[in-house]
Amino acid sequence: MPAFREFVMKVHQRCNLACDYCYVYELADQSWRDRPAAMSPAVWQAAARRIAEHDPQHADVVLHGGEPLLAGRDALVKIIGDLRATLPSVSFRLQTNGALLTPQMLTTLADHDVRIGVSLDGPAAQHDRRRRHRDGRGSHVLVDRALRLLADHPAYGGILCTVDVSADPVDVYEALLEYRPPTIDLLLPHANWEHPPGPGYADWMITVFDRWYSAPTRETGIRLFEEIINLVLGGTSRSDQVGLSPAPVVVIESDGTIEQVDSLKSAYQGAAATGLNVFDNALDEALRHPGIVARQAGLKALAPSCLACPVHDICGAGHYAHRYRAGAGFKNPSAYCADLRRLIDHVATRIAADVK
Ligand code: SF4
Repeated sequence: MPAFREFVMKVHQRCNLACDYCYVYELADQSWRDRPAAMSPAVWQAAARRIAEHDPQHADVVLHGGEPLLAGRDALVKIIGDLRATLPSVSFRLQTNGALLTPQMLTTLADHDVRIGVSLDGPAAQHDRRRRHRDGRGSHVLVDRALRLLADHPAYGGILCTVDVSADPVDVYEALLEYRPPTIDLLLPHANWEHPPGPGYADWMITVFDRWYSAPTRETGIRLFEEIINLVLGGTSRSDQVGLSPAPVVVIESDGTIEQVDSLKSAYQGAAATGLNVFDNALDEALRHPGIVARQAGLKALAPSCLACPVHDICGAGHYAHRYRAGAGFKNPSAYCADLRRLIDHVATRIAADVK
């Protein structure tokens, strides 16, 4: 079983926004309610030791939440310092909603070699429909400020955008492009066979793909499309959205609990739990957890109908969380099966025409 490479640390468990699709707070699993708001030094120091004994050479730490900037500059500097003291080759990313990214915070994070990703869902009106404060105020004005600070900054990691098919796809893509992101992550909203997605995702993604792929110069990277192109050309994927590569990600919650990827929380209460924690358990034990074994099993985790599908090595049944069906678990096609098939066929056709 390949070792974990990516360690998502929930340095602050609460959020200053209340986005309506958030898998941590708004969907099936409500385990955040029982956890401390902020990660304590004892937890992050124990996590550092566990990561070091697991694989000291390869560690990408994602400072995550909730909203990680709620931890504050002092705590973030201490976390980064303590992890680097234990793991000299560790690299850091931070995923934020952007609302608290001040110039001082950016300078601090950049000084500590942290790459910053920001969530933005499109033009102001579109973004503010879904990504709001608890009192209903939109967050776009603050995200806009954050992205203007980040544009062309070496600490800029990119933009994460959750697809909303009610928005115009080209308007969304071009709104993101205004902030010159080095890369864009387009995420399908979390859905499964109990809560299936509505129609329109294939058309939406294909429209963005054509706009992006047909640009006379490369405007930005779109990870999902780049991964599909790579797979169509015979390469391997590093994405958990497509392909059959193992997902080497583990989550450390604010109380030290070791969990599987957060997105499983969209399936049912406790779906991400392992029963392990960084005080009592090695991360090698998490590698043997049945849920993680299944998620890393690639081809062996696919349903018979996926194995019979001509694009299964590219699709890989999509995101693991999107395969869930009550009573049948995760050995099913993706709830986005038809959308993934159309998108993959479209990308493959465009690539085939270009490599003739
Ligand atoms: S397109 Fe559908 S059937 Fe084919 S691998 Fe993907 S989820 Fe499975």
